[in-house]
Amino acid sequence: MAQTLSPPVSRRLSHLLDGGSDGWGVYRRARALAARGVAVTDLTIGEHDIGTDPAILDAMDRAARGGHTGYAAVPGTEALRRAVADRVSARTGVPTAPANVLITPGGQAGLFAAHMAACDPGDVALYCDPYYATYPGTLRAAGAVPRAVLCDPARGFQPARAALDAAAQGARSLLINTPNNPTGAVYGPETLADIAAVCRAHDLWLISDEVYDTQVWDGRHLSPRALPDMAARTLVVGSMSKSHAMTGSRIGWIVGPELVVAQLIDLATNTTYGVPGYIQDAAAWALADTGDLEARIAAPFRRRRAIAQRLVDGQSVVRLVPPQGAMYAMLDVRATGMSGEGFAEALLDRHAIAVMPGESFGRAAAGHVRVALTVDDTRLEDALARLLSFAGEPPLEATA
Ligand code: PMP
Repeated sequence: MAQTLSPPVSRRLSHLLDGGSDGWGVYRRARALAARGVAVTDLTIGEHDIGTDPAILDAMDRAARGGHTGYAAVPGTEALRRAVADRVSARTGVPTAPANVLITPGGQAGLFAAHMAACDPGDVALYCDPYYATYPGTLRAAGAVPRAVLCDPARGFQPARAALDAAAQGARSLLINTPNNPTGAVYGPETLADIAAVCRAHDLWLISDEVYDTQVWDGRHLSPRALPDMAARTLVVGSMSKSHAMTGSRIGWIVGPELVVAQLIDLATNTTYGVPGYIQDAAAWALADTGDLEARIAAPFRRRRAIAQRLVDGQSVVRLVPPQGAMYAMLDVRATGMSGEGFAEALLDRHAIAVMPGESFGRAAAGHVRVALTVDDTRLEDALARLLSFAGEPPLEATA
């Protein structure tokens, strides 16, 4: 029977991953092993080991049963936009009004929309490498051409002024992420001042991914939107996913200049058509919480960072790039002679422990693996101890 061929898929989609691997091979193999009954310790994915707090779920339930299940206001409800604006004003000192806020279905949708605002098709969009796995694909989805700024492990993975300046020629936007996934770097005042200077000098939009802003262990979170003259050229992406363990609720925001937000509302009307009202009500309830919800959700990661540090200190092969924030630990495994990918694959084969190869996050993290601190303390300690003893073993060929 003659087969009817589909017309070609757009280049935008067929080139979304630039023909490369999506970096999730170890994760997928770990899932497949687990499905076959192998007891895999999965330290790949950035998701809490707790669910959304029952009090937030109660607020969601009340809102849904109270009838907030129809189309919600596309820009976000007035209450949630105000809650986000007040939060941002209080934490950054930058006066922020509801008109500066667009509610989005998660930070991921915010990243896409922010690049749609900043870039025309073919414009160069900068991003820092190591990077969160979706970044290059997100920029391509928005029609931009991604260009990496390599961030040296020797500088704690903070971007250097010279590298930013060199990359900025002809670019339209710069995407940064602090606290950083995958490195745990929290950008200090000097780094942020350099970033702001480069954005001003090259007339760039700054897209600041701050979804880990409540998870800072050393220093404090600084938003570059608060730097001189930066509010007019900065789009901040925020989310309830990490701060409130609401990953599945898909709720986040963009904060930016009012005129840009007005145009982003047009984009939302013609793409997402907003976020469910009952989710927004639950988010507004959670942001109004004056208790210790955020601190409680963040606390395990600080504790587990200390566990990782203690274990790494007890040996000399693997180095920890001390995470200043977020829910990950980057381990430098170069002294084993293996690539991050080789290490992660062999660790999965030999010890059923899954970690992300640094290469999944770009060139600058080669020879590293990222450990998500997202299993309970005892399992983490056991898995890390086995990982470190594996790192000290002779290479596979020598044991064959
Ligand atoms: N930015 C970073 C750096 C992330 O790690 C993530 C999720 N892992 C996101 C954005 C997207 O988060 P969400 O869409 O769940 O808000």
